[in-house]
Amino acid sequence: MSEIRITGGCQCGAVRYALLEQPDNPHICHCRMCQKAFGSFFAPLTGVPPESFKVTRGSLSTFRSSDPVERGFCRDCGTPLTIHTIGSNRISVSIGSLDEPEKIEPTRQYGIEGRLSWFGRLPSLPGDKTTEEESPDETARIAASNHQHPDHDTSEWPPPGMGA
Ligand SMILES: [Zn+2]
Ligand SMILES: [Zn+2]
Repeated sequence: MSEIRITGGCQCGAVRYALLEQPDNPHICHCRMCQKAFGSFFAPLTGVPPESFKVTRGSLSTFRSSDPVERGFCRDCGTPLTIHTIGSNRISVSIGSLDEPEKIEPTRQYGIEGRLSWFGRLPSLPGDKTTEEESPDETARIAASNHQHPDHDTSEWPPPGMGA
């Protein structure tokens, strides 16, 4: 096995995983099942063979969205993590759950029959940074109460003294 180790996990940190090879076919899927499962306009996905996907903390909960398709998620926080077609030589992971999603740029769209009509207009919407809507005090308060797992593996989570 190669030295590649790309990590990711859910928002609360109960489930962490590693990819042991460079994932391929990064894409977004607009199909209605992916919209529903992600609570979003599309699902951002990339994949590896099952033997190169390892859960390194906790365990996946699964939902069969159709007979052949199993969707993995964190039962504690609900983050969508994987999609696996039973019997296929591939498991897809959600790009947003990777620790470094910036490195995985989608190259294709699937399920475009489900693509929402205004999808192409999103990048031209007016934009604000998160902090522009909050006062500095409010921003600091929110940061201090953050329960999201950091974007790297941890030896212990949640850290001692930080209640859930
Ligand atoms: Zn979680
Ligand atoms: Zn889909």
